Amino acid sequence: MPKPRAAPGLGIVKLPSGPQVCQNRSRNIGFAPQMRVLVIEDEAKTAAYLRRGLSEHGFAVEVCANGNDGLQQALAAENDLIILDVMLPQQDGWSILRALRNAGKQTPVLFLTARDTVYDKVRGLELGADDYLVKPFDFSELLARVRTILRRGPARQSEILRVADLQLDLARHKAFRAGAKLDLTAKEFALLELLVRRQSEPLSRTLIAAQVWDINFDSDSNVLEVAIRRLRAKVDDPFPTKLIHTVRGVGYVFEDRTE
Ligand code: CA
Repeated sequence: MPKPRAAPGLGIVKLPSGPQVCQNRSRNIGFAPQMRVLVIEDEAKTAAYLRRGLSEHGFAVEVCANGNDGLQQALAAENDLIILDVMLPQQDGWSILRALRNAGKQTPVLFLTARDTVYDKVRGLELGADDYLVKPFDFSELLARVRTILRRGPARQSEILRVADLQLDLARHKAFRAGAKLDLTAKEFALLELLVRRQSEPLSRTLIAAQVWDINFDSDSNVLEVAIRRLRAKVDDPFPTKLIHTVRGVGYVFEDRTE
């Protein structure tokens, strides 16, 4: 259980016992429109901690303590964000997220879980989660992540980018070429998304490294080359039309040169 050291005055309140139902939102006492956050979390202490902390920062918080109620509430109500635990009674976070996305609901989802393996992170992102936070977490970090997700604007539509026979489904983090699903890692997807968004624009290695890895590479690092090679093996190698091109001395460009 995380300590509320990052948010002064944050106390742990006990949720009422009894049947597990969704707890109502706190009332809006401010003037600005409140952002609505649905917390699906079965651990009472964590749920109370989130409710208290987020309410104190002006969010209207609703808490559901099991998977079925959570999914029902996520489908029925318009939320600005869902904070979703993975291990839940009745149905887990994965199946809730899948059901939500399959129903066309693009509410941003922040996964909250004790699991921290790379596999789980990738799985969550591939299912269409927007971010991932591993327990135990600092409230200040959670708040920062929540604000970042909300700053991206209202729930993303199922935006699809198309170049030639390549399709990128941004909301679902899925890529297809000639109708076949490409099996990409989260990093490969991010790299491909950047290239596709800025198609026909030669992108320098430095820019790509900064945007995709959020770091400056040593000039002699070949991380980017390796990543591009892996991406090409999936995106270009099996197909006659190549879309990723090397720009000598600069970096790479994504372009359909058959047009
Ligand atoms: Ca749990």
